[in-house]
Amino acid sequence: MKSWKLVGTALAILMGGLATDAVAGSYVTPRHVESPDGMKLYRFSSGALTIGKGVLQNFAEMEPPIQIPVGFYVIQHPKGNVLFDTGNNDKIITDPSYWGPNFTGAQPVNTPDVAIDVQLEKIGLTPDDIDYVVVSHMHLDHGGNVGKFPNSTLIIQQDEIDYAMWPDDPFTGPFIPQDAWVLRAPVGSGQPNAMTMVTLQDEDFDIFGDGSVIVKSWQGHTRGHQMMLVRLPKTGSVILVGDNVYFQENVEKNLPPNLVLAYNPAGIMESYDWIRYMRASEGAQFFTAHDPDEFKAAKKAPDFYE
Ligand SMILES: [Zn+2]
Repeated sequence: MKSWKLVGTALAILMGGLATDAVAGSYVTPRHVESPDGMKLYRFSSGALTIGKGVLQNFAEMEPPIQIPVGFYVIQHPKGNVLFDTGNNDKIITDPSYWGPNFTGAQPVNTPDVAIDVQLEKIGLTPDDIDYVVVSHMHLDHGGNVGKFPNSTLIIQQDEIDYAMWPDDPFTGPFIPQDAWVLRAPVGSGQPNAMTMVTLQDEDFDIFGDGSVIVKSWQGHTRGHQMMLVRLPKTGSVILVGDNVYFQENVEKNLPPNLVLAYNPAGIMESYDWIRYMRASEGAQFFTAHDPDEFKAAKKAPDFYE
């Protein structure tokens, strides 16, 4: 019965009615959330990758390879459009060598229809309609197209910018320096940033100030990794987990990822705990970037969650 009470409390919060002091450690929930009518969440895939599951999952088989989506998301809110992750850089459609050995390693689908502007057209948007770009991290399949949104505001952890430009020795492979370099203003401009940026210092950011779209700083997969909590008026709470969680089973069975790609493994396991806490406290679901079964079953743009 306890869990029902917690869910009931969370629903009341979602309705914007009740104030609550529900606190568990650092897991503070906003006291007053108003998810505005008309909010929508769309999910997309950039060019799918084909890799051994064991590249991502500890102890998983490498053969036969599996095809995984490269998820990214758009949230429409009355006060603006938010893009969460930007997929593979569209440059690989015409120039696979842009990814170096990663191209043959990950075998991305690189047909012209996967370009991010073509995908956004499915819901009637152009890159200039995106007000905020949030990247979970700057790996090649998430931060690839940040340079295509020069008129948006980029929300990123300062740690991730630094790390993308100069990663630690074992974690260099999935960062394409040029993906991050486009964030740097031209030489002589006297300022570092090429676009408007909210650079966070290990902190969360409530984009619209109403608790409905919250960027969560969560070091794990990379040094400045972010997840995002989206509270929709009808669907309820959805956590966009980036690459802190590859597959639904990671959280369900508490499975660690392949440590080769894990900057802070303990941080990843703690993110599973937070997801389970959010599920218990407000019925949250979580959407991954790469779980093929989950993506198959999900609503895909132009269909949406509201
Ligand atoms: Zn990824």
